[in-house]
Amino acid sequence: MYDINNIFAKILRAEIPCNKIEEDLYFLSFHDINPKASIHALVIPKGSYENAHDFADKATIQEIAGFWNGVNMTLAKLNLIQNGYRLITNSGLHGHQEVPHFHVHILGGQDLGSKMVMT
Ligand code: AMP
Repeated sequence: MYDINNIFAKILRAEIPCNKIEEDLYFLSFHDINPKASIHALVIPKGSYENAHDFADKATIQEIAGFWNGVNMTLAKLNLIQNGYRLITNSGLHGHQEVPHFHVHILGGQDLGSKMVMT
């Protein structure tokens, strides 16, 4: 069950601020408050979806296309396309998802190493 009081839902309702990068009808992107790389952005859909599975299961084709267009627009705005980046999405207990509104992390702006980090 989607928690309407999660932090990203509050950001979408403009109840708390964010450091916005890009936005349109389908997505919002902003800088992570606790960056794990030189550039660490988050992209969220405007709709209320808990995680990647929930989004893929229930979102409309327009919402899905709009979200990935948002990822693309954010990558371009942050100048990450030429040198590369890493996309991560966490879900559930094993994925250690902290905020239960679907989001993709964009990491870049530096060499991120060849391995996924598990701590
Ligand atoms: P996850 O573990 O995938 O749910 O990651 C949630 C991310 O949201 C973490 O990287 C947090 O640093 C980030 N975060 C939490 N609150 C805020 C906020 N108010 N503004 C921006 N990023 C946030």
